[in-house]
Amino acid sequence: MTKRKLAILGSTGSIGRQALDIVSRHPDRFEVTALSAHNRAEELFDQVRRFRPTMAALTAGEVRLPEDVRFCDWTFGADALEQLAHHAPCDDVLVSVVGMVGLKSVLSARKAGKRVLLANKEALVAGGHLVMEACPDENGSPTLIPVDSEHSAIYQCLQAAKGNPFVHIILTASGGPFRTWPAEQIANAGIKDALKHPNWVMGQKITIDSASMFNKGLEMIEAKWLFHARPEQIQVLVHPQSIVHSMVAFLDGAVLAQMGVPDMRAPIAYALAYPDRISNGSAALRLHQLGTLTFEAPDETRFPALRLAREAMQAQGAAGCVFNAANEVAVDAFLQGRIAFGAIAHAVEGTLSRAGSLPANTLDEVLDADRQARGITLNLIS
Ligand code: MG
Repeated sequence: MTKRKLAILGSTGSIGRQALDIVSRHPDRFEVTALSAHNRAEELFDQVRRFRPTMAALTAGEVRLPEDVRFCDWTFGADALEQLAHHAPCDDVLVSVVGMVGLKSVLSARKAGKRVLLANKEALVAGGHLVMEACPDENGSPTLIPVDSEHSAIYQCLQAAKGNPFVHIILTASGGPFRTWPAEQIANAGIKDALKHPNWVMGQKITIDSASMFNKGLEMIEAKWLFHARPEQIQVLVHPQSIVHSMVAFLDGAVLAQMGVPDMRAPIAYALAYPDRISNGSAALRLHQLGTLTFEAPDETRFPALRLAREAMQAQGAAGCVFNAANEVAVDAFLQGRIAFGAIAHAVEGTLSRAGSLPANTLDEVLDADRQARGITLNLIS
């Protein structure tokens, strides 16, 4: 079998490490040709020694390289990801970095004709139209495959649709650690409480976003772009067990769901090996051991992120970008102990009302809206 050559941007993060775990299970299928990390140099060096890529990058800046990793071509600094996405000798680029740098990486990978496996939220949330424009199907094959578990689930369900349009997309949400908490208690929740996710083990920012449900808000906006959905076609359903990863409803009343144990290796492996299904280390789903799956309507009063995401989806221009930027700044302030948990949504709402109608037709406009929104949120917070 011809090996697919893979570049992983963000290889020391949670998604990147799990992707490498899958690659190491299938050495006949995948070859890693490029790896990047931000500042976890030692871990990246270990990965480089193990997977022998031809290119590697550290985006935090230049460091002294140990003798035994100098065989590959190194790039340092903020522009390293775009360089890697463009020049790495690969078929696929797994974009699993956090932040707006993901958008530039996607566009750069596509300019070089590479397929994008997308695990970065900002690219679609902030620059959805730019990404979708850059990622048309080529000869019936996708050039963009989502990695996020919900979007992977919807993507998988749509494979069975044979072109039939969906009526609704139903994004499931675990509800996070505050699912049953009263509004007042959520507003004053501490950092430790917010970092306790019931089902998924993930990075710090996304875990906070799950507690506030801003993560689901970001995913609603992503789904709008990825699946060409109208805002009213996107529903959220709280499902505390995280077994049904999302669903798609059709005109005949049929609802297709994709299920599995909550293990990111499954959607990562699906994207890596598409359209094949390969083993990935995730455990088998044993429904009889679970017995019951439950579902609840989301509470948009206790979790205003969902309402704000809907408003951002309906607005034109940079609203998605502003939603994301404001949330990122506010989460950062929360993690530094500077604002209360409940203030995150207030900061996003305030920023949306001030900057939500900025234009976002070009990459420069998107990046400019992002900068302006961050400034406004910082002001609102202090
Ligand atoms: Mg998700």
